[in-house]
Amino acid sequence: MAGTYRIAVIPGDGIGTEVMPEGLRVLDAATRRFGISLEYEHIDWASCDYYEKHGQMMPDDWKAQLSRCDAILFGAVGWPEKVPDHISLWGSLLKFRREFDQYINLRPARLFEGVPSPLAGRKAGDIDFWIVRENTEGEYSSVGGVMFAGTDKEFVVQESIFTRRGSERVLKFAFDLAQQRAKKKLTVATKSNGIAISMPWWDERATEIATAYPDVKWDKQHIDILCARFVLNPDRFDVVVATNLFGDILSDLGPACTGTIGLAPSANLNPDRTFPSLFEPVHGSAPDIAGKQIANPIAMIWSAAMMLDFLGHHGGKEREAHDAILAAIESTLKEGPRTGDLGGSAKTDEVGKAIAERVANV
Ligand code: ATP
Ligand code: MG
Repeated sequence: MAGTYRIAVIPGDGIGTEVMPEGLRVLDAATRRFGISLEYEHIDWASCDYYEKHGQMMPDDWKAQLSRCDAILFGAVGWPEKVPDHISLWGSLLKFRREFDQYINLRPARLFEGVPSPLAGRKAGDIDFWIVRENTEGEYSSVGGVMFAGTDKEFVVQESIFTRRGSERVLKFAFDLAQQRAKKKLTVATKSNGIAISMPWWDERATEIATAYPDVKWDKQHIDILCARFVLNPDRFDVVVATNLFGDILSDLGPACTGTIGLAPSANLNPDRTFPSLFEPVHGSAPDIAGKQIANPIAMIWSAAMMLDFLGHHGGKEREAHDAILAAIESTLKEGPRTGDLGGSAKTDEVGKAIAERVANV
């Protein structure tokens, strides 16, 4: 196993700066207990404060600085009152995604005891699946334009570009993940009944890749019925893989079915490990609750646990540390303390401390 992992710590804006210390608090407890060595590089850029001082979100050598790290732990970016979202987002997070070839966006949807689901009658254990979203191409390729603008012939076209390499690598990742899970089930999101060129081709890629995974039970589902089933039968799913746009929609819908956004973690992965991967809560900087110490830190803490698991290649003491953090999150959701979004009145750091203590003691 590796010696010391070097972690870039980027709190960003708003509640990002409030939940990050709790992520680090729990990481410290876990790494101490399991004998893992982390070295933090604390970074104040990729924030709107930095933009106000420097007129750009990041220093020119950002890529060299981050490339020295094994992973990036990210809080949240954005403060629309000061900096428009397209500048803050395109000037930081979306650059990482592209330049570090983080081609997988991975999000769990899991319902915990003590967290009410908006889906009536669902209890802990009923919902437990992963969403794998293609993160670099497809519907978000930004190729196209407005033609004959201002005339009565005006039209707009935007292409979706699916490369063989881009499609195969995300499908392989999803089949691999399904194979490691107990149920070994994979659902491939498609729309080959309506999008008649690219989606049948995507289905073919899936069918080809599937031959290397005879033990994975897989099927294709059209995105419209798939959305309905997320709500009606979430217990059916194990791993779901989708192109960029469909994955974007599913990866918000899935966690929404499991309660608060304050719990949902995510990973932007470069599975080939040619550049660092990034781990961050799904939620944004939440200006409406920032500065009050009431944000739920669990999405941040869970993201940190996903980071350890990825660093350890899903095994070893890193996996044990990940599992201990998840167990501590589970018992804290059951027994408290809880933040306001879960009906409690605890402060951000009270929840962080409770989880860190459980990690140290279970
Ligand atoms: P994005 O930055 O992703 O575009 P956004 O800025 O529109 O999203 P968020 O910052 O994610 O939205 O916040 C959406 C809502 O969820 C807000 O009302 C916010 O208060 C609430 N929220 C977000 N994160 C948390 C959290 N960790 N704990 C409690 N409430 C949260
Ligand atoms: Mg925001």
